[in-house]
Amino acid sequence: MENTGNEIINGLTELFSNNTRPVVIVPHSNPDGDAIGSAYGLAVVLKNLGQFVKIITPNDYPGFLAWLNGHVDIINYQKKKKTAEHFINQCSIMICVDFNEARRADEMENTINSFAGTRIMVDHHPYPADFCHFTVSEPSYSSSAELVYDLVVAAGWERGIDLHAAEALYTGIMTDTGSFSHNTSRPNLYKVLTALMTWNIDTESIHSKVYHNFSADRLRLMGYSMMEKMVILPEFRTGYIALTRDELKKYNFVPGDTEGFVNIPLSVSNIIFSALFIEKEGYVKVSLRSKGSFPSNAFCADHFNGGGHLNAAGGEIKMSMNETLEKFTQLLPGYLHQLNNV
Ligand code: 5GP
Ligand code: MN
Repeated sequence: MENTGNEIINGLTELFSNNTRPVVIVPHSNPDGDAIGSAYGLAVVLKNLGQFVKIITPNDYPGFLAWLNGHVDIINYQKKKKTAEHFINQCSIMICVDFNEARRADEMENTINSFAGTRIMVDHHPYPADFCHFTVSEPSYSSSAELVYDLVVAAGWERGIDLHAAEALYTGIMTDTGSFSHNTSRPNLYKVLTALMTWNIDTESIHSKVYHNFSADRLRLMGYSMMEKMVILPEFRTGYIALTRDELKKYNFVPGDTEGFVNIPLSVSNIIFSALFIEKEGYVKVSLRSKGSFPSNAFCADHFNGGGHLNAAGGEIKMSMNETLEKFTQLLPGYLHQLNNV
């Protein structure tokens, strides 16, 4: 860990060894594989060390991650606000995983900011906001899950790792690297994977549970998106897909169904910038991906109220779909130089 000094590690070790009250772990809203994997992995480790831990997700998480369950309670804040608030009020420690500003927890933002105990951030997004007492922020890591592993070892909690924790952390790494296709050039990643494999993780089974667990409608939505909705703008080396609420409804959309769609245009030769626009009630959710030095996160922060990593970012905008697409396409000429210099 490059940014996390001994002071933080020793502080955390001491905090937990003196702790007698419950601990809450919070991933970001619309949690993905890394958010759930790192939250669940850390929760299982802390539970095995004798802490009383629950995970509270701001909203529901996709069905392909539902198997990460059973060893630690997971409460959906949106569905069980009273139960969640009651539990949080008893907690002395809150760990925020895979996000770097309270806003990313949507409906839980105020709960996070007003939490009376100690807040800890464990995250790999650049530019962490200052809302935690302990900030473990390591943007060079592939995933929060890879970081959780190193943190657990550094804090002396390794004996808390078991197969369930190892599977969860592996899932976080696998999903945040697109099945080991990006952010995979740091040797540390392979050290962590090697260590996790000592628990005899069934990697094929995890891959199947995560990637071969969709409805036929989802595959048809993907086909429709490619055939009818993908727009390629070769002059800007950009591609995008925009899906309206009606289109999603037609294919019986459930959360998680459009996971990965944003990467599709990037597989076209010479395309280095890709966007996915999903129409929501009153706003459009924007996902951006890029290759090389083109900064998805700055583009998103400057125009779509979001942020993220250099090559993967997201945000949202309170506009109609048509207005959003007009805004996006009108921005591209101003980035022509950057798009051509990747
Ligand atoms: P995705 O496109 O998969 O939803 O998100 C890609 C990346 O962008 C994630 O690493 C996530 O942290 C970031 N991201 C997604 N949505 C938002 C958002 O609304 N705000 C910010 N700041 N980051 C986001
Ligand atoms: Mn992540």
